[in-house]
Amino acid sequence: MRPVIIAANWKMHTVPSEAGPLAATIAARTADPDVSRVICPPFVALADVRDALAGTGVAVGAQNVHHELAGAHTGEVSAPMLVGLATWVIVGHSERRRDNGETDELIARKLDRARDAGLRPILCVGEQLAEREAGRAEAVVDGQLRGALAAALRSDAGPAPDLVIAYEPVWAIGTGRNAFGSDAAAMADAIRDTLGRIGFVDGGAGMPILYGGSVTAANIGEFLAEPAIDGALVGGASLKPDEMAGIVGRAGVTARARLAAVG
Ligand code: PEP
Repeated sequence: MRPVIIAANWKMHTVPSEAGPLAATIAARTADPDVSRVICPPFVALADVRDALAGTGVAVGAQNVHHELAGAHTGEVSAPMLVGLATWVIVGHSERRRDNGETDELIARKLDRARDAGLRPILCVGEQLAEREAGRAEAVVDGQLRGALAAALRSDAGPAPDLVIAYEPVWAIGTGRNAFGSDAAAMADAIRDTLGRIGFVDGGAGMPILYGGSVTAANIGEFLAEPAIDGALVGGASLKPDEMAGIVGRAGVTARARLAAVG
């Protein structure tokens, strides 16, 4: 049975003094042992958020990690630096692909660094609007998955054993225009198909796949009604405790239905 995961991506919002109290409020408003909750604040707020979330069951994630272990990379943060601050990390978010020119090859190296440091990666994939309109959405995501994961699959270390994938259509991120649940589920099926083809032993059946893109308390049900979707990566709405309470509340319904189904 796959877990139900709600991950909050705070992007470049909150200063440390407000991040801790906000995280504590969200943790209190979303307390549900059946839902895996993660909050990913800016790097500078990781320590405050870690301290605020101690004992709540909510995990802390970073929003990025460098592809090298150490070196002359001014302003960057490596995976070993994150140990003790975070247990999860977002890798390959489309805003970093767009703003920082992150390639699939670079993202593959970041995934290796995360795995080696024991950080649980959320690998983000997703197509641009023009690619979807051209009927190429599944081919684009297939290419991103192969580019990010194929080398690790060929290596002795393999990919992170607890990898999570977030399908985030780029045109849905921060736009208020979410995908249809059925389209997200079709993509999740296509992702598992690719995972099987590139060598994941169970054909990706056990891999949690999240949807991301303008998720709110009002639309989360459309995604969690799809058995192929295991939760959400939430941006804008994740800064609002009311929204997070609604999103995690709905996630709990799906989590308990899954638990009941396996007895
Ligand atoms: C995200 O940051 O990954 C995201 C999906 O943002 P939003 O929910 O604001 O679209």
